[in-house]
Amino acid sequence: MTQKAKGQDDNNPLKKIIAHAKEYGFIFPSSEIYDGLQAVYDYGQNGVELKNNLKHLWWKAMTQMHENVVGIDAAIFMHPATWKASGHVDSFNDPMIDNKDSKKRYRVDHLIEDKASQYEQEGKANDAAALLDKMENLLAQEDYKGLYDLIIAENIQCPIAKTANWTEVRQFNLMFSTEMGAVADESGKIYLRPETAQGIFVNFLNVQKTSRQQIPFGIAQIGKAFRNEIVARQFIFRMREFEQMEMQYFVRPGEEMQAYQTWKERRMKFLTSLGLPAQKLRWHVHTKLAHYANAAEDIEFEFPFGFKELEGIHSRTDFDLTQHQNLSRTKMQYYDEETKERYVPYVVETSIGADRLFLAVLCNAYTEDKGVDAEGREKERIYLNLHPLLAPYQVAIFPLVRKDGLPQKAREVFELLRYDCRALYEEKGAIGKNYTRQDLIGTPFCITVDHQTLEDQAVTLRHRNTTQQERVAIADLPNKLGEVLSLRHWLKQLQ
Ligand code: ATP
Repeated sequence: MTQKAKGQDDNNPLKKIIAHAKEYGFIFPSSEIYDGLQAVYDYGQNGVELKNNLKHLWWKAMTQMHENVVGIDAAIFMHPATWKASGHVDSFNDPMIDNKDSKKRYRVDHLIEDKASQYEQEGKANDAAALLDKMENLLAQEDYKGLYDLIIAENIQCPIAKTANWTEVRQFNLMFSTEMGAVADESGKIYLRPETAQGIFVNFLNVQKTSRQQIPFGIAQIGKAFRNEIVARQFIFRMREFEQMEMQYFVRPGEEMQAYQTWKERRMKFLTSLGLPAQKLRWHVHTKLAHYANAAEDIEFEFPFGFKELEGIHSRTDFDLTQHQNLSRTKMQYYDEETKERYVPYVVETSIGADRLFLAVLCNAYTEDKGVDAEGREKERIYLNLHPLLAPYQVAIFPLVRKDGLPQKAREVFELLRYDCRALYEEKGAIGKNYTRQDLIGTPFCITVDHQTLEDQAVTLRHRNTTQQERVAIADLPNKLGEVLSLRHWLKQLQ
């Protein structure tokens, strides 16, 4: 039997995943009845569970497993000076270019990177590297004329118009703005935060004083961020409204590189602990560092469209706190009891998009299991190989038939399990179809209550990945499932 989501395209793995995500209640295009809103998405009934589980595990890994990391939840709106201090007002720009024929606008770096990928596919790795090198130099020098010339020299064409009829390269600020209060003029202009990190920096003193944390310590936060991304492709990889999970770790100046190494290891361990395979993750070292950073690396994941940034780990020096100190005239200093010194702490940041992690996990989980059935016919089974702690439902319980007291017995099993895990009770539909449905949303365990259950107080436990079934006493279920679904067990692996 084949179960494919509507609109699925056999040759495009991302399209398959997008179709699957929609068909099974994970992700819907925003305001779809009005034809959607570009690069904005809604999470459906299964998507919200998976996303909440990701956020929950990140939060637990950060705060529960680190005695010196605490969390906050800052507002999306911040004083506009915040974004002046952080540099976002003046330099959160991307160089853009418009095609005069298609009227489409593109990020210059994306156009050039696509050309480099094309060279790579043609086996011209040296040309690709040389092109990227040229681009990085021009970007670093903010040489827009040079970038334009490079696009023309490489004959880079608009993917839609298929022409190289380009405007000049221009800067475009990615922040969304709105007005606060009744008067719509520049004085009331505020921004929707383009990153969550600044909410942490401006609260550094509040948290340090009230938590009585001593350096080194970290502040973690999960929250929405907004960027007016121009090229919003690749599903939830690049959205205009998205969620970030960031942690800023404050250290003594000079001790940042040690913290940087430690957090690099911890973050990689976190990602593999969720079931992302090590071979699909790699480090990308930033060769051209932002002026405030003294080390920066990204963890890239192999998405269906290639290795792309999933998480950034950056050593940001004392740049942000110093900027806020200068603009707000509030001392952002810390008095170190040990060294008897006063200093602005250095910061190591880990920053990952919850939606991007969702996409990585979903792409990795999507499995097409091809085989032959007992009669020798080809069959294909699709399931989501989600980590049991991430799956929207962890166990689904069905009575074999809707009579003979089986629904009542199955409900008893449901009541036994629902307080310790995300359990689902379903009495409609044939068992085979119910198994298939749970496979498609990634439920790791299914339980069937049959006539024999009434006699031996045992049920059939079916495992999603192998489809193997075993008979388990009802009384043993909590322990058996508890071992696999244990948060404690997962957290211990992280140490
Ligand atoms: P990119 O180069 O892909 O635009 P970035 O380097 O600007 O990303 P950061 O500012 O370092 O990204 O943000 C940290 C993390 O936030 C990224 O690693 C990514 O996981 C996530 N993120 C950033 N922009 C978006 C977006 N538009 N949609 C979804 N997630 C995003």
